[in-house]
Amino acid sequence: MSARHEDGVATTHRVVILGAGYAGLSAAIQLASRVRRSGDVRVTLVNAQERFTERLRLHMSATGQRLAELSIPELLEGTGARFERGWVTAVDVDAKTVRIDDERVLSYDTLVYALGGVADTAAVPGAEDHAYTLDGPQDAGMLADRLSRLGGGTVAVVGSGLTGVESAAEIAERHPELNVVLLGRSEPGATMNPKAKAYLHAALERLGVTVRSGVEVVKVLPGTVELAGGESVAADAVLWTSGTRVSPLPAAAGLTVDAHGRIVTDAALRSVSHPDVYAVGDAAAIRQGYGVMHGTCQGGMPTGVHAAVSIVRTLKGGRPKPFRFGYYHTPVSLGRHDAVVQFTHPDDSPRRLYLTGRAAVRYKETVTASPWPTWGRMKKMPASGAFWPRGGRFTRVGQAR
Ligand SMILES: Cc1cc2nc3c(=O)[nH]c(=O)nc-3n(C[C@H](O)[C@H](O)[C@H](O)COP(=O)(O)OP(=O)(O)OC[C@H]3O[C@@H](n4cnc5c(N)ncnc54)[C@H](O)[C@@H]3O)c2cc1C
Repeated sequence: MSARHEDGVATTHRVVILGAGYAGLSAAIQLASRVRRSGDVRVTLVNAQERFTERLRLHMSATGQRLAELSIPELLEGTGARFERGWVTAVDVDAKTVRIDDERVLSYDTLVYALGGVADTAAVPGAEDHAYTLDGPQDAGMLADRLSRLGGGTVAVVGSGLTGVESAAEIAERHPELNVVLLGRSEPGATMNPKAKAYLHAALERLGVTVRSGVEVVKVLPGTVELAGGESVAADAVLWTSGTRVSPLPAAAGLTVDAHGRIVTDAALRSVSHPDVYAVGDAAAIRQGYGVMHGTCQGGMPTGVHAAVSIVRTLKGGRPKPFRFGYYHTPVSLGRHDAVVQFTHPDDSPRRLYLTGRAAVRYKETVTASPWPTWGRMKKMPASGAFWPRGGRFTRVGQAR
């Protein structure tokens, strides 16, 4: 493998991966496992916390359920990747450096940006100040604390997407003393087939969740949510799950970003403006034949693996291959005892096949717990990480259905 050369002297190629979520950890484990014997590539993974955040389970944390302690340094054990704990405050794409905690500077030759996204609380006035989010364990913990002290009253969950549905169901199940109102533009389960959607609605009704779809929240005030048209909905706590945005870091660095702040990538997942920067997971705007991918763990992990494989190919003098991914399922928890899983075409449109009840609960849990065995296998056999549905004709740019 070729390393960086300065004045004819071979030096180590430094790959810095920002963010140890599902995408960043997949990139780090895949890359470090592939290069661990070569000795001329150094992989450093940077993350705010040492504990892995199971984002898929943050609605459980928000209702006071304890999650497993997963340590990032332990997940990296045996790969040779270094872990650097800290908050990334700036990226300098000209100097090729990253600033951490405003005090340390890390230099890179190749950067992988995997810092994810957060709920878009900037979308309406007051959401930033008066709404809770599921952006991280601390945010989820603050909501859990608030819910446990309420003893009665109303919780408004804003956003009728899947995070909003899972959160409303979880809160209603854990806190039967609270009224839960789910507010959003689209009806819950809008992308599911009619039968799966009907099941989801019946489950929300059984749990006592009041669904108000077709509404536009325009303001969040202490104790109230204001709707377009002037109606107010009283709420003792508001959870904001509507929309996502990416931190201003990539835009401030001069990387080309889309309207949500995501780094726009080429087919190989490199920034279109700075090809030595790869972008993966929720922080990347990745075009497929069916459109730009939306943030999921099922798609995020393959992006990390693909970036790692591309870096290795490039270091060996080859050309990275285009990334292709087709969706295959939408698993949705409805509290701890019910769920619905919609199987999908690669463009995320629903198939006829879906699961409900206990089979769906088991399926959802298996999927949620699958990253660890996947990473464990990848450490021993890196190639095992490269299996995911490529999506056939659905994902060829210019050849969508
Ligand atoms: C409640 C909930 C349920 C969900 N359920 C599903 C599901 O069932 N299926 C599915 O596919 N997707 C689901 N998602 C979406 C899924 O969680 C995301 O798509 C996925 O986490 C994206 O992975 P990522 O690696 O890009 O980002 P993340 O997992 O968010 O990881 C980003 C990492 O970067 C760190 N970080 C961020 N900024 C900084 C900084 N400045 N400095 C240092 N570190 C930083 C964060 O702490 C985090 O560790 C769910 C999301 C939520 C909130």
